[in-house]
Amino acid sequence: MADSDTEVVIVGGGAAGLAAARRLHEAAIRCLVVEARPRLGGRAWTVTDGSGHALDLGCGWLHSADRNPWSAIAQAQRRSIDKTPPPWERPSLAVGFPLAEQLDFLKAQQALDARLDRVTEQSADSAAAAFLDPADRWNELMNAVSTYYSGAELDCVSALDLARYHDSGVNWRVVEGYGATISGYGADFPVVLECPVRRIDHSGRRLKVETAKGVITADQAIVTLPTSVLADDKVQFTPALPEKAEAATGLPLGLADKLFLSLDGADEFERDSRLFGRTDRSKTAAYHLRPFGRPRIETYFGGRLAWELEAEGEQAFFDFAVSELAGLLGSAFARRVKPVQFHRWGADPFSRGSYSYALPGKADCREKLAAPVDNRLFFAGEACSRNNFSTAHGALETGVAAAGQVIAERKRS
Ligand SMILES: Cc1cc2nc3c(=O)[nH]c(=O)nc-3n(C[C@H](O)[C@H](O)[C@H](O)COP(=O)(O)OP(=O)(O)OC[C@H]3O[C@@H](n4cnc5c(N)ncnc54)[C@H](O)[C@@H]3O)c2cc1C
Repeated sequence: MADSDTEVVIVGGGAAGLAAARRLHEAAIRCLVVEARPRLGGRAWTVTDGSGHALDLGCGWLHSADRNPWSAIAQAQRRSIDKTPPPWERPSLAVGFPLAEQLDFLKAQQALDARLDRVTEQSADSAAAAFLDPADRWNELMNAVSTYYSGAELDCVSALDLARYHDSGVNWRVVEGYGATISGYGADFPVVLECPVRRIDHSGRRLKVETAKGVITADQAIVTLPTSVLADDKVQFTPALPEKAEAATGLPLGLADKLFLSLDGADEFERDSRLFGRTDRSKTAAYHLRPFGRPRIETYFGGRLAWELEAEGEQAFFDFAVSELAGLLGSAFARRVKPVQFHRWGADPFSRGSYSYALPGKADCREKLAAPVDNRLFFAGEACSRNNFSTAHGALETGVAAAGQVIAERKRS
């Protein structure tokens, strides 16, 4: 790409950027998606293993699937939807976690969720950990679960933000991959890959977007960068936008990493079942056994544990998983698993984390991040979603909303 001119430039080709581009394309507005990576999808990324199975290294679950627009898009792309209930809605394997204890844990988790649900707009925006019963024996495990869905422990997370999250409770998967569905949505419009944006100059009559491959001149821009990138000034604005950097700082990306293992003798385990490595500490992984019935284990690491293991390197994740699994299933189990696929989202320069959470007191940063600037710079991405943040459908909705704002503005002017 040499220097070019378009009506709307879209910074970032993830779920939000592609949804925005699709909406503008339908409205016959010329737009260009500029993406730093050599692929579309961002934090949605499907790879294929040696057996031809699709593995989602980023988003995998169609959360709120019955009203999630990606469900219909996947079907329109002729993909198969798997409606098997997720492991967290069924009892885990009893190994190291007898059923009676699981019921006790479930009661504690439901009581915490009920206390968080009672948080209202009038409540102080405190840390979710303030709603734990200090005497509860399951606090460590509830913190571990928080690292899987927020990417952070409960002491870091705003209770008000959690209370605003909407969840229909229906969770499905795309057999051929959620990431493949999202990147496939970007097939029909102009995209430049391997083209990091460095500066967005909004000082003149038209925007100048400086990239690694030249300058793009445009009327408007939709910025869908992850909050980690916005907070660290990796993309500069001229004039500066300190209010955006501040909002992004209030919404850091938590960390969740997935390690896929192959599993010999997988039939011994029920399909789509689950094990926790430990039930007495928050630094533990969750093991999803035989996802889609395949001979695989999908391992989740979150929060402080994931950051620590990333600092040690990729091998540390495998060693940790093997030691927890051997602790539960016997030392011979170590010979039955091998690493298949993995990605360190914290070390990834274009995401530096997995999904956003709001710090205590910062729930309102989502609206601040989403607010347009001068009706020329529009913002989208999962972190801008008030009720569906941290998800791929939340990202899509913010992309469509930002495109709607652009369309309305172009009609006005
Ligand atoms: C391990 C993991 C598991 C997850 N599980 C689920 C799940 O089960 N269900 C669910 O709904 N969600 C899940 N998510 C979250 C979901 O993937 C994200 O919320 C969603 O994909 C974010 O989309 P986005 O468009 O907001 O951001 P992104 O996908 O991050 O898109 C932003 C784009 O901007 C690009 N970019 C960055 N810097 C620059 C630059 N300087 N110039 C140009 N481009 C740049 C990035 O490369 C990226 O493509 C998961 C995420 C991870 C990491």
